[in-house]
Amino acid sequence: MSLETLCRACGLCCDGSLFSRVPLAPTERVPETALAVVTNEKGGRHVPQRCAALSGTVCQVYAERPLACRRYECLLFGALRSGEVSLDEALAVVTQARALGQEGAPEAVRERYLSFHFGRRP
Ligand code: SF4
Repeated sequence: MSLETLCRACGLCCDGSLFSRVPLAPTERVPETALAVVTNEKGGRHVPQRCAALSGTVCQVYAERPLACRRYECLLFGALRSGEVSLDEALAVVTQARALGQEGAPEAVRERYLSFHFGRRP
């Protein structure tokens, strides 16, 4: 339950903070309109981030979300699952990550924080 609580309070892996896009497998079926799926000239598809299906910090197409979303686990999620951090500590990390964005912290500082706690990949 605490893992779900963390994810539902976070959303940083869906709001553009950690990723710029979610790739889709060639045969993957997803709710394309809800996800605002983009198709390139070679037929490759991706979901741009911030995801159109994110409402606040919650996925609105959770049961139909892409495979890449299902497989992804951030470092903070792993740390909570292993007991390395408590739920309160994990939620504090999320709050701080959001504050760095809202307070206009230097991009390098925010990048370092996101990379260390979440395993951000560009
Ligand atoms: S489909 Fe859901 S889980 Fe995947 S990026 Fe969008 S909001 Fe996040």
